[in-house]
Amino acid sequence: MKLSSTLIAAAIAMLSQGALAETNVLNLYSARHYQTDEALYATFSQQTGIKINRIEGKEDELLERIKNEGANSPADIFLTVDAARLAKAHELGLFAPLASKTLETRIPSYLRTEDWFSFSTRARVIVYNKSAVKPEDIQNYTDLADPKLKGKVCSRSGSHPYNLSLIASIIAHQGEAQAEAMARGMVANFARDPKGGDTDQIKSVAAGECGVALANTYYVARMLRSTKINDLKMMENVGVIWPNQSSTGTHINVSGGGLLKTAPHKEAAVKFLEYLASDQAQRYFADGNNEWPAVENVKVSNPALESLGKFKADKLPVNNLAMYQAKAQIILDRAGFK
Ligand code: FE
Repeated sequence: MKLSSTLIAAAIAMLSQGALAETNVLNLYSARHYQTDEALYATFSQQTGIKINRIEGKEDELLERIKNEGANSPADIFLTVDAARLAKAHELGLFAPLASKTLETRIPSYLRTEDWFSFSTRARVIVYNKSAVKPEDIQNYTDLADPKLKGKVCSRSGSHPYNLSLIASIIAHQGEAQAEAMARGMVANFARDPKGGDTDQIKSVAAGECGVALANTYYVARMLRSTKINDLKMMENVGVIWPNQSSTGTHINVSGGGLLKTAPHKEAAVKFLEYLASDQAQRYFADGNNEWPAVENVKVSNPALESLGKFKADKLPVNNLAMYQAKAQIILDRAGFK
């Protein structure tokens, strides 16, 4: 009798230990792969005792993976960049609606939806070659369509989410006709066919192959903080413009994430998302990739970003960027913006 009760007690202890082990982990699928994010995760584990298993991959591949794993997916949270990709995860029904007082108070309403949240922001700016164009001619996104810039505009692919989200914002603010006129005008002004990423556009602008291009701010900041003399030399030729300052403000995009519907560790996952909105996490999150915190009034110190000066950001709700995504693609296709 004595023996069996001891056994039972031991079995219970083992079971609860197993359950404890299970609740103390979190499976994170992340398209962010910045070395500085290591500290972000380590701090969370130290504070909560929750171990984070990370699966990293390319944005679109991770989304496919979660979709294919279906109800059996071990993923608790999906983190990625660009409002369009986050919206796609929402449309596929992957995210679970989440009512969190912490997230609602910390993240401004235009940067969140019912089931996904932005944790950092980046702006899409105009970069120009100082000896090729006059900055006063390109104060707005739609100025990129001005015939004055014939043969001077460079771009990455029109179907890249960064360009789709920008065009989506133009549709939201100025309507489809304006967005299409801008797309057509840019195509007519191309110095070459769209190719490469944002950094390639910056370098081509610096080299004078292009007079003007679009780039996300963290790519500009990365060049400005480069340890390569060559990069710094190149940046001497490059000017940066905050577009649409006298109207809607400069277009911003986000990185963010949400709780997955099939999450096996919901409680830990919510804790982690709330942690991402803390001052400390916001600093890691933003500084690591030269972005801005989504939470207002978080002090960051990033000389490269500061050197670009203050600007007025477009506060269009992130949902709207998603809403006009398909329209944006149709418009860019029709305009021959490959
Ligand atoms: Fe990027």
